[in-house]
Amino acid sequence: MSISEEARIAAHSPAAQSELPPALEASGISKAFRTKRSSLQVLDNVSLTVQKGEFVSIVGPSGSGKSTLFHIIGGLVKPDTGTVHMNGMEVTGQQGHISYMPQQPALFPWRTIEDNVLLSQEVQGTVDKDTRENARYWLDKVGLGGFEKAHPHTLSGGMQQRAAFLRALLSPQELMCLDEPFSALDALTRSDMQRWLLDIWEESRRSVLFITHNIEEALLLSSRIYVFSGRPASVLQTVDVPFPRPRREEIIEHPDFIKLRRELSGWMREEQQKMQGSHPLK
Ligand code: ADP
Ligand code: MG
Repeated sequence: MSISEEARIAAHSPAAQSELPPALEASGISKAFRTKRSSLQVLDNVSLTVQKGEFVSIVGPSGSGKSTLFHIIGGLVKPDTGTVHMNGMEVTGQQGHISYMPQQPALFPWRTIEDNVLLSQEVQGTVDKDTRENARYWLDKVGLGGFEKAHPHTLSGGMQQRAAFLRALLSPQELMCLDEPFSALDALTRSDMQRWLLDIWEESRRSVLFITHNIEEALLLSSRIYVFSGRPASVLQTVDVPFPRPRREEIIEHPDFIKLRRELSGWMREEQQKMQGSHPLK
């Protein structure tokens, strides 16, 4: 075996991976939104880590502060306390380090679907014939073949979401932050997209931080799940998902999967009830 081969194998061993700095390390993040009269505490001392090549999910009640945490990681919002490190470098408050799919698809209405999908690569100055061909290949794969030259308003919500997802996937940054990427899809399409994301991820091993409401989706896709409390969000539980990869949909019928799903659903229900309890008018 050549030395480079040995190095390659060593680099893929868990021990070696754990010595690399994490793709993302958010430490002690707190944030309140203030107006002249009031202050709304949204995040309370949240810390989480995504190792290189890890798929990590956040589940938590609606309105708890998950999207706000993504805005902080992406440098769009400054935290009151805490830091964001990527690959060992502090990037708190800086933009441009993550590939980000916002909760609302946020496609540019005047750009075609293909040009929307290629946006990040265009910003980096790397669009050529090959990247266009690659984009078309993926558009076809997610059922958007034939819509390359269409404008976003002519597409359904689910199709726009798939285009926004592709834009994040084809962005060059190592860490992908996906904010409820499949929420506007019907159950069947959603299940197709999960299957498809699982395949892509198992092949590419990008570092992913994924927000979802769907516990089954989180268990199917993730290596680790952070369960957030209601607002102000703190990390209530960290769950290591033990199922081996490559994963297949069949695991959702495994007794261990069902047990974990039940446990996570229980925590979520409790938090949701607490939030509703503290806001009697909602
Ligand atoms: P989640 O994504 O978990 O549903 P968000 O992070 O979107 O929650 O929102 C958490 C809370 O912060 C909500 O009550 C929301 O209204 C509030 N919020 C979010 N962004 C702002 C902002 N820019 N100014 C004031 N309040 C905000
Ligand atoms: Mg949100």
